[in-house]
Amino acid sequence: MTNIVTELSLAKPVVTDGAWGTQLQMRGLAVGDAPDPWNLDHADLVEQVAAAYVAAGSQVILTNTFGANRVLLERHGLGDKVAEINVAGVEISRRAAAAAGARVFASMGPTGKMLAVGEISAEEAREVYLEQAAALRDGGADALLVETMSDLAEAAEAVAAGVAVGLPVVASMTYQRGARGFRTLMGETVAACVKRLTEAGASAVGANCGMGPEQMVAVVNECTAAGSLPVWAKANAGMPRQTAEGTIYDVGAQEFAAQSLLLRDAGAAFIGGCCGSTPAAISAVVAALRG
Ligand SMILES: [Zn+2]
Repeated sequence: MTNIVTELSLAKPVVTDGAWGTQLQMRGLAVGDAPDPWNLDHADLVEQVAAAYVAAGSQVILTNTFGANRVLLERHGLGDKVAEINVAGVEISRRAAAAAGARVFASMGPTGKMLAVGEISAEEAREVYLEQAAALRDGGADALLVETMSDLAEAAEAVAAGVAVGLPVVASMTYQRGARGFRTLMGETVAACVKRLTEAGASAVGANCGMGPEQMVAVVNECTAAGSLPVWAKANAGMPRQTAEGTIYDVGAQEFAAQSLLLRDAGAAFIGGCCGSTPAAISAVVAALRG
């Protein structure tokens, strides 16, 4: 079936955006505070982040809705604001994207409760994601991005919820490299994730966070070998290091951009950045990919 995700992927590589959390922190979000409520209280500052990525050349930008599910918002006493925060998040990104004709893929992250150990049932997870996905659709998202997932069962529920509300879905897992190769926190292989997420109805699969661009190239290779869907890749700008000045990421914009060429050569259809990546890095990626 053709949809905006498959359509965009035909003209790959598509440049997506970079990290949002650190950009919001530069604008006053306290470390450890939930960014999602800013869609209501500081919409102008959230829009600055979205606009910075559009200006950098992102063809796809995300939304500030990564943690805007009922389970996480309830911890902040905002369980009754799920719809409002998600709709506002999409509207903010749409305003920033409009001028450049960029697309808005709305972000859905983990609930923070593990299905594997019974903290939440599959049915409950599906309900939580159905509520968030419906609000993101109502706000006008072009597609959904299920991201930073370390539990394949939870990711599959989120993908199914997105499909159920009628949106194309990109499914992005987080892997770590161990002695047996790349695995999610729950021990699932890349091939197992690609297979199950494809069956759940994803239009693209891939990985974000947890590793720098070099390892991400290897994960992209595993994704392309395991299936036929377009591949999404958002590496961190290296691994975080704690210093007296705060958290530092070692991969600068130029090196990050050089690595994006390797991601392209490995077959990645959507290329952006996760933690530590900046509008400057995305701008360098655009320049590198355009040759
Ligand atoms: Zn990240």
